[in-house]
Amino acid sequence: MKPRAIVMGSGTSNGVPSLGRTYPPEFLADPRNHRTRCSLMLQGPTGNVLVDCSPEMRLQVLRTGVTEIEAVIISHTHADHVMGMDDLRSFSLATGEAVPVYTSPQYQEDIRRLFPYAFAEFPPDIFVPKLDLRDLPERLDLAGLDIEVLWVRHGPWDVAAVRTGGFAYVTDVSEIPPKAWERLRGLDTLVLDAVRHRPHPNHFHLDRAIEVAQALAPRTTYFTHLCDEYDHGPAEMKLPKGIRLAYDGLTIPI
Ligand SMILES: [Zn+2]
Repeated sequence: MKPRAIVMGSGTSNGVPSLGRTYPPEFLADPRNHRTRCSLMLQGPTGNVLVDCSPEMRLQVLRTGVTEIEAVIISHTHADHVMGMDDLRSFSLATGEAVPVYTSPQYQEDIRRLFPYAFAEFPPDIFVPKLDLRDLPERLDLAGLDIEVLWVRHGPWDVAAVRTGGFAYVTDVSEIPPKAWERLRGLDTLVLDAVRHRPHPNHFHLDRAIEVAQALAPRTTYFTHLCDEYDHGPAEMKLPKGIRLAYDGLTIPI
């Protein structure tokens, strides 16, 4: 199989449709408007790497048919990116090994606080997730892919973005520092945060995301982390050439 990226979830933090709201039947009829929380899978020649563990991680991975995960990269520890980590237990149970989880030291502390039982001693037949927390270097060789880690700003937080070959994934971003910016120019495909239509302090909103996409000039940009203001079909028709909306299950060659 050729290397590829799968957008596992394309939705903003509360998912789409959101609880407590009603939607027109035409909106609900388009499967692309059903957005689970943001996550990406990189499928390389020798394995699979998960970027973030959304609350729907288990269902997202089942949908792909993937049964093995070589490692997980956590971009940051907001709930919508880590609350599926408990379900990594199935992978550690299957292999008998802790799942390698790459993230910054600060986010490692958050993960230890959120899932303390994953780092405690239990009798052998009690199945808790086993996580092997590791620092994120600037480059990672995982799944047979050369993965470059770039840091962007998401309001006051640092978020890890990833690039491999001509593909990059930049979720949860409000500012791209110069070092990352240089590494995001001239891509084949960029997946980029465009959370909603009006400005947001911690995310690119639609107009800003369009400006950034046009300045970085990848061949194709897919917007992700989308809220329910985006009705996929009509919203995508209004986008400039080369810019599209991601959807759950979207597969991109890398
Ligand atoms: Zn976030």
